[in-house]
Order: sequence, then structure tokens, then C-alpha cells
Amino acid sequence: MRDEPARVAWHFLAAEEVALRLEASCADGLGEAEVIGRRAVHGENRISPRARKGPLRRFALQFVQPLVVVLLLAAVVTALLGEWVDAGVIFGVTLINAIIGFIQEGRAENALAALSLAVTSEVTVLRAGGKQRLPSTELVPGDIVLLAAGDKVPADLRLFRSKDLQAIESALTGESAAVSKHGAALPEDTLLADRCNMAYAGTVMISGQGAGLVVATGDRTETGRISRLIAEAPDLTTPLTRKMASFSNWLLIAISLLALLTFAVGLLRGEAAFEMFMAAVALAVGAIPEGLPAAMTITLAIGVSRMARRRAIIRKLPAVETLGSTTVICSDKTGTLTENQMTVREIHAGGVQTMVSGNGYAPNGKLGDGQEISGALRECLLAGVLCNDAALRRSNRHWEIVGDPTEGALLVTARKAGLDERTLATMFPRLDEIPFDSARQYMATLHEIEGTRIAYFKGALEQLLPRSVSMLDADGTVVALRRAEIDGAARNMAAQGLRVLAVARLFGAEATTLDAASAAGGLQFVGLFGMIDPPRAKAISAVRACHAAGIAVKMITGDHAVTALSIARHLGIAQAGDSALTGRELAALDDDALRTVVRSTAVFARVEPEQKLRLVRALQANGEIVAMTGDGVNDAPALKQADIGIAMGQAGTEVAKDAADMVLTDDDFASIEAAIEEGRGVFDNLVKFITWTLPTNFGEGLVIVAAVLAGATLPITPLQILWINMTTAVFLGLMLAFEPIEHSVMHRPPRPPGQPILDPALVWRIVLVSVLLLAGSFGLFLLELEQGNSLAEARTVAVNVFVVVEAMYLFNCRSLTRSAWRIGVFSNPAIWYGVLVMALLQGLLTYLPLMNRLFATAPIGVNEWLEIAAVGIVAFVVVGLEKRWRTRRRVGA
Ligand code: ATP
Repeated sequence: MRDEPARVAWHFLAAEEVALRLEASCADGLGEAEVIGRRAVHGENRISPRARKGPLRRFALQFVQPLVVVLLLAAVVTALLGEWVDAGVIFGVTLINAIIGFIQEGRAENALAALSLAVTSEVTVLRAGGKQRLPSTELVPGDIVLLAAGDKVPADLRLFRSKDLQAIESALTGESAAVSKHGAALPEDTLLADRCNMAYAGTVMISGQGAGLVVATGDRTETGRISRLIAEAPDLTTPLTRKMASFSNWLLIAISLLALLTFAVGLLRGEAAFEMFMAAVALAVGAIPEGLPAAMTITLAIGVSRMARRRAIIRKLPAVETLGSTTVICSDKTGTLTENQMTVREIHAGGVQTMVSGNGYAPNGKLGDGQEISGALRECLLAGVLCNDAALRRSNRHWEIVGDPTEGALLVTARKAGLDERTLATMFPRLDEIPFDSARQYMATLHEIEGTRIAYFKGALEQLLPRSVSMLDADGTVVALRRAEIDGAARNMAAQGLRVLAVARLFGAEATTLDAASAAGGLQFVGLFGMIDPPRAKAISAVRACHAAGIAVKMITGDHAVTALSIARHLGIAQAGDSALTGRELAALDDDALRTVVRSTAVFARVEPEQKLRLVRALQANGEIVAMTGDGVNDAPALKQADIGIAMGQAGTEVAKDAADMVLTDDDFASIEAAIEEGRGVFDNLVKFITWTLPTNFGEGLVIVAAVLAGATLPITPLQILWINMTTAVFLGLMLAFEPIEHSVMHRPPRPPGQPILDPALVWRIVLVSVLLLAGSFGLFLLELEQGNSLAEARTVAVNVFVVVEAMYLFNCRSLTRSAWRIGVFSNPAIWYGVLVMALLQGLLTYLPLMNRLFATAPIGVNEWLEIAAVGIVAFVVVGLEKRWRTRRRVGA
């Protein structure tokens, strides 16, 4: 190429000149060899990620947390008091805490950032004369990109063809109104926002169709240059983490007050100020759940990657939590509940029914008994081929479709009858078109055939039949419209679950362009295609699983009511006597009436995308938490309004993916069910961690307060408390995040979103374990002193009681209801690794002289270990009995 693309005013040049300069052909696109050469020069079409917050800054931010500030203050005061070792260790611990937080946060961020990359965006290009779908990263300058409504523009394009093309360029220009696009050259000084013949990377097409030449890729695009669109580091907060953060802050205030009170009470009782200060510090560092924020982020991040493995990519972290509360899933039919593998089974043209044999996209099969194709049947096939944007391709002996499967099925059928779409397209080129749109429910194209201009229409019967005034008879003559006969044939097809597509034509059109006005009436009805789209194999069991989990499933489709009902029954979404609500009926209901109707209706047919928004709102007004799927541009508002907007990764438009909270990589309904199961699992694991961690903090707080009140020496020092909190949170508590999902999660109703995280039963369990810890550690501490052992030994025993009880209690917390034995003692190996590491660390703390010096611990004997183990076992058994008692009571109730 002669010029550096960035400097050329592409909008100023005529399209032919642009093609010339880029050494490209608007008719055929680039050849494969040429593409390889250009890729080597220009690299991938990807914008280099902007550097995230620097590591130093991220590390420094770890210290700007109320808890850490308290710890640092304590360390400073301790240092001022001359306690250098203590101060050093507190500093050290805050440092380690920051390092762990830094690493884990980085990992979670990377995992989430990687997920957003996993949703690849695909583009349709013209290369070597054929249409292809490619990841947008593979584009090179000179490529021809074919744009359709819903596409995100993948690179900077100079448009040379457009039909009703409209773009939203707010990402680039800040202007939120749609801009019309056309191909004509513009004055050189036209401002970026007014360059209607250009489509810029990152903007989105909301209607129409068009084609453009890639003039710049990757960092050389306008977007790349201003790099305003680059994803920031993902937000790691969710409503739950924010709730926990504010809970921690309240806890901090309460604990600080309690610490002050302890200090004051101690002083009043005549204790030494230094001792009391240390007690206050111990209380502060002990009662604060340090590990909680990190554990929550990590549990969520692990949940997100588990969901990704099950083909649900989370785009917004809060969705992980909301999934667990979902009460209704509103799902599209085509492609989500069904395979979107269309095969025409029968054709009804001119009053004659013709069966079509063969399966899939391979054009092997026959129409009827292989008779000659003529009259209305031939016209029907011709219309299906010409009014069509799909392409049929054979790659590695495998037939595939580029484009809409509904259209692909028509190409396959025509080939079975010996009609080749490529020959027909060259014989009767398209003069103009009205692109398909879900709201319009039809598409049309204009051709000149043997000197006559004919517009072909294909779409929903409800759209085309009312516009028809006559019909083609079997022999191809035009006769009076036999409306009842056509309706009957369509109903017959729909009752078998076939998707019905109608075809009509406007004969002798005068204008050389097509618009909605020319499609208003006067059509000749040509025929009907009935195609099967089998339900997805896994969808049936997924619907059943949702029902067992108390989640309602509703089918929302643009398809015919009878077809929709037939498939809904097959999937278990509708029962025998159920009826469907159509878009037209829906439009006639006011909001209150709709609220009542949505409760009992499971199938919504012939729904326009805009009506999905009303449905979501009506369901939400009933207190439901709604998950809604969508793929088109017009689905975006409903996806945004829904509690969980779910976009299709394969069939979905970029606009829908942008609006969604979650993207399904396989478009399968079963993946929604899997994500909900994971969502419930994540929530469970969070609750388990909280239930496990709080007793340590409360137990430590109780021990300190009890010691001060009893006038006893502190059974555990602030340093030892820090040790317990830090090590157990990382090596014991965090292992709960790896806990497999319990089978029962999909056998209970959804969690009401407003419900407190801990129910009263769990609060009681936390209190129970806190008291057990108090009794065990304080009790053994006093016993040790009584037996004449040193203070260091007694404290070592107290510390080990905490760790051992926490380790045993960890097994209790693996399930909140079922017994530790029932869930399989070895079903989460992470727990065992954690316990092993913890045992090792306690060994070091107890026996390594350096650790003895740092933490004021001392070696202890076998007897002590036996006593500690006994306390652990007692705690384990007591909690086990409590769980059992509650389960029995629940079952009995
Ligand atoms: P979903 O169940 O996901 O809503 P759908 O395909 O049934 O999918 P739409 O895509 O909105 O819903 O289509 C609505 C109707 O428009 C279809 O039932 C069919 O009659 C018609 N239609 C679908 N695809 C095309 C097409 N490519 N060209 C012309 N008409 C179409």
C-alpha cells in the first residue's frame, strides 16, 4: 500500500479510489495469501491494553483500609513503648496481609479480564469471493466487512454500500442519537462526527446493512488512538461485598469502642496501663475479620471461572450473586431452547403440499417423489433463495451455513430441487432490499426477472397474508386468494411444532427501490415453508431442574403461537391445556392486567423485542428476580432492565452482548441453569466462610474481655492473635471457596435478595463456637498456669486451641446443614492440604526457637496436645449435634 493509512482522508476519496489505494477489490475481497502478508505487516486487529494501575499504586492501596490503619497505629504506639519485636511483627503482618491481598486481587482481576476477552466478537467478511465469519482480530486493511444491524464495527471502515444503515457513535463522539451512513465521498474538512461514509471501530450499527473497506486496524483506528474505550480493570465489588465492607466498618467502630472500654475498665481496676493497652490492641486486631474481604473476592472469582467452564461468561461481577436469587428465566426459543438447526420438512404452494426429505445442511434429499419442479413450488423455492442473505459452504466434507439458519435451510431445500443459489444470484441480481428485522418480521428483495421487476417477500404469515390480494396456483397462474386454505395449512404445520415461514411476491414493481410503503399491499401469495428446529437435548432436563429449584421458565419468541406451544410442551415449559399469549394480546393489556397475566402464562409468542421490556417490568413488579435472554439490537433495553441480562455468544449481536450481564458461549439454555447452580454454590461458599471465620474473631474478643474482667493475664497476645487470624484465614478458611456445589442447591427455592446473609440458626452457631473457643482456650490456659507451667507455654496452648478448633470446625462448615461425614470427608482435597500446612505452621510456631522468640511461645508436651485435641473434638461433636438437631427439627416441622 502506498500511503500510511492514518494520514489519508479516506472520507474524501471516492470508494473506488479507496479500494485502489488499499489494493483491494470491493467485489471479491482479499485473497488468502494477501491476507497473510498484510497480517505480518499490520499485526492483529486488537487495541493494545492500556496499562492498569501500576503495581506500586495497587500495593499502596492495600494499606488504605480502616483495618490496616488500626493495625499500623497499634504498631506505631507499640514501637513508641519500646516493644520493638511486637511492633516489628505487627508491621510484618500488615505487610504480609498487603502482599496476599495484592496477589489475590491481581489474580481475580486477571481472571475477570481474561473472561471479557473470551467473548470473541465475530465479523462477516468477503474474502476470495466468498462470505466468511472470522474473529474480528483477524481483519487486515483492505478487507471487506459486511455490516448488519447489531454489529459492533470491528475496525475503521470506509463504507461503499449501505442500506438504511444507522450507527450509534456515542463511544467515539459522545453523541447518543443514531447517525445515518452512506457511501458517497465527503469534503476533506468534514469533522469526524459528520463523516457519514465512515464507520469507526467500537461504534455499533443499530439498523440496516452495509459494506465497507477496512482502512485502519488495531491501534491505528480512531478509537485506538484516543484509546478511550479500553476496558478498565474490572470492578471487583458487588452488593454483597459492599454490604460486608460496611458491616466490617461498623464492626471496627464497635470494636474500637469496646477496646477503649476494656482499657478504661482495666485502668480503673488498677491494672498497668501498658498491659491494658496491649489488651485493647489485642481486642482490636482479634475481633476484626481481616481475611473476610479477600476471601469474598476470591470466592466470587473462583465462582466466575467455574461458570466460564460451564459456558456462562460473567461480564458484571454482581451477576454471580443475583443468579442465585433468580426466580424466573425468560428464554428465547430459537437457538436457546432449540438447536437453531433448521431443516425444511414440507412446502405448501398453490394448495399442494410437498414433503422434503433429508436432514441437516447437506443438500441430500428429495422434494416429493422427485417430480419436476414447476409452477408455484418453483416460484416458492426461487423466492426463498433470492430473498436470502445466507451462504451455504462445504468445508472438510461438512456442510455449513454462514448467516441465519432459517435462511440457510431455504438454500439447502432449493439445492435439493436442483436450484443453485449462486447461479440464481448472478442471473437475477438484487436491485434493492428491506433487511429482516425482528420487529418487522419479514424481509424483501427486488430483482429483475425476464424483463419484469419482482419483489420477493419472506417472513411471518401474519405479516404477509394480510398484505396479499391474490395467490399463485399450483401451475403458477395467479388466482384469487384462498385465505382459509393457507391458514389451515400453516396451522397444520405449526401444530407439529414446525416453524412456518411465508413467501409472497410483488409482481411488476415499478420503482427501482424498495421501502416499507411499497410493501404495504398488493402481494401475490406464493407459499409456506414448514421447518423443524429440534429442541436442544439438554434443555428438557435443564427446565426440569429449574422447576425443582423453584425457578419458573417462560418462553418468549417471535415465532407462531402454535409452534411455540408445541415446542414448549415438549420441553415441559407448558402443560397440555395451557395457552400462549401473543404480542398483539399483550399490547392490548394495561400494566396491571399484564402483571396478573404474567403470573400464569409460560409462553409468549409473536412477541416484538420491545415488548420484552414490558414483560420484564411486569415480572419485576410482582417481586420476581428476572433473567432474560436476548440476541438482537432491540433486545438490549430488556437485557439492561432484567436483573440478569443474558446474551447469546454465538448468535447474539455485539449490542446485546454489551448490554448483558452474562454471555452464553454455546447459546444453550442448559448453561443458564448451570450458571444458576454455580451462583447458588458461590453464595453458599461465602456464607460458609463467614460462618467459619466469625467465631475466631468473636472468640478472641471474648477471651480478651473475659481476661480483663477476671483480672487475669492475657491468654493470647496481640501478635499471637494476628498469627491465628492471618494463617487460618488463608490456609483453612479460603479452602471453603473450593468446596464443590452441594447437590441440594437446586432443590431449594431461590434466596430472597433482601434476606440477611446469616439466618438466626447460623448466628446461634457462631455464638456457640465462640463460647466453645472461649471456654476451651481460657480454660486450658488457666489449667496450664495452675499446673505450674510458664506463661509462654500456657499461651501456646491457648493459641493451639484456637487453631485446632478452627480446623475441626472447618469440616463442620463444609455444609451448612448436612453432617461432615455425609458430604464425604475427602471430597474437597484443598481442605486437607490446608489442614496439613496449618499443622506444619503450628509445629513451627510451637517448637522453632526463632518463632518462640518472635511470638512469645514455648514448646509444649504430649499431654497438652491431647488436651487441645480433646477440646477440638468436643467442639466438632457439639456443632455436629447442633446441626443434626436443627435438620431434624426442620424436617419435623
Ligand atoms: P426467538 O424464539 O429467539 O424469538 P424467532 O426466530 O422465532 O426467535 P424472530 O427472529 O423475532 O423470532 O423472528 C420472528 C418471525 O420472523 C419468525 O417466526 C419468522 O416467521 C420470521 N423470520 C425469522 N427469520 C427470518 C428471516 N431471516 N427472514 C424473514 N423472516 C424471518
